[in-house]
Amino acid sequence: MENKIIYLDNNATTRVDDKVLEAMLPYFCEQYGNPSSMYTFAQNPAHAIKEARGKLKDFFNANNEKEILFTSCGSESANTAIKGVLNMNKNKRHIITTKVEHPCVLNVYKSLEKQGYKVDYINVNSNGELDLEQLKEAVNDDTALVSVMYANNETGVIFPIEKIVDIVKSKNSETKIYVDAVQAAGKINIDVQELGVDMLGVSGHKFHAPKGVGVLYVNSKTVITPLIIGGHQERGLRAGTENVPYIVGIGKAAELAADNLKYEATEIKRLRDKLEAGILKRVFNARLNTGVSNRVPNTTNIGFEYIEGELILLHLGDYGICASSGSACTSGSLEPSHVLRAMNVPFTSIHGSIRMSLSKYTTEDEIDYVIEKFPPIIDKLTRISPYQDELDALKKIKV
Ligand code: PLP
Repeated sequence: MENKIIYLDNNATTRVDDKVLEAMLPYFCEQYGNPSSMYTFAQNPAHAIKEARGKLKDFFNANNEKEILFTSCGSESANTAIKGVLNMNKNKRHIITTKVEHPCVLNVYKSLEKQGYKVDYINVNSNGELDLEQLKEAVNDDTALVSVMYANNETGVIFPIEKIVDIVKSKNSETKIYVDAVQAAGKINIDVQELGVDMLGVSGHKFHAPKGVGVLYVNSKTVITPLIIGGHQERGLRAGTENVPYIVGIGKAAELAADNLKYEATEIKRLRDKLEAGILKRVFNARLNTGVSNRVPNTTNIGFEYIEGELILLHLGDYGICASSGSACTSGSLEPSHVLRAMNVPFTSIHGSIRMSLSKYTTEDEIDYVIEKFPPIIDKLTRISPYQDELDALKKIKV
C-alpha cells in the first residue's frame, strides 16, 4: 500500500470508468461532426446523442426522451431548473429549500431572496433527517418551488423524496419540485415516476463519467425557460453545440451505474460499514455524525472530538489516503460545514469531522489499511490537543 493513492473522496469526484472513456474516444478525432449539420458525416454524432438520451431516460425511468436535457454539470442543472421554473411562474413569490443543500442550490436561493422572494429553509435533526412537519407547515398557496436534495454530499443521508412530494403536492398541487440527485446517482435507484418529481439533476463526474457534463430531467408537464439562450440545441432549452463525447460518456456511465446498483447496496455498503465500525471500535473519541439515518451505501462522516479535521487530513495524506473534512467547495476555509452546523453536531467534534466516500474501485485491502492507519494518527493528534482534561473525562466514559 505504501506510495499508493487510497481514494476515499468519491463524493468530491470519481475516476472515469475505462469503458466510459472508450465509448467517448471516437467522438474526438473521428466522429467529430457537429450534430446539427446536414451532411452524413454529422449523422453519427447526432445518433450518439440520441442513444445517450435514451440511456438517461432508462436510467431515470422517465416517460420519454424529450424529458432529458444535457447540461455541463450539477450546478447548471440546478440553476436551470430553479430559475427556469420561476421565470414561468412570476406571480408566485414563495420558495422552499433545506438548510443542508449544496451551495449550487443554496446560493441560488440566496440570490432569489435578494430579488424579493420569500424563502423558507427547512431544518434537519441531529441525524441529518429533514423536518417533514416544518416542510408541511411551510407550503402555502404562494409556493412556486420546493428544492430538496436526494442524498447529502457530506453525510450521505437520503431524504424521503416520495413522502416529500406527497406532502408538498397535497398542500399545493401546482408547486413544482426540483430534486438535486447529484449524490444519489449511481448509489441508489432513481425512478422519477415513482418519486413523482417535476425536475431532477445529476452530474456525470460523480458516477464515473468525466467532469463537465450533467443532466436535467424535466417532466413533460413542467415548462421552464432556458438559462443559456442561443441556438436551437436541446429543443431550445440549452443553447450551445452539444458536447458529443461527454454526452456519450454520461450515457455509458448511466448504463454502467444501473448495472452496478446491486454491488453498491451490498459490497460497497459492507466495506463502508467495516471501515466505520473499524474506526469507531478503535478510536475512543470518534462519533458517527449521522446516527441511525438512512444513507447512501458509500458515505461515512465521523467526528473526532477535540482535534482538527485539517490535521487529520494532512496525516492521512502522508499515507496516500484522500478524504475530506467537508464538502470540496467549503474545505479550504476553517468555517465548519453548514451541513454539520444544521445538524447541531457538538462543537467538540464539528471541527474534527471527516467524510470518507467509497466507490466500486475501493478494495478490501484499502479499507483494512485505512482502519490500521487511523488509530495512531488520531492518538498522536489527541496527545497534542489543548483539551486534555475533556479528553480524559471522555476516555473514562468510553473506555
Ligand atoms: N449537488 C450536490 C449534492 C453535490 O455534491 C455537487 C458537487 O459536489 C453538486 C450539486 C454540484 O455538481 P457539479 O460539481 O457537477 O456542478
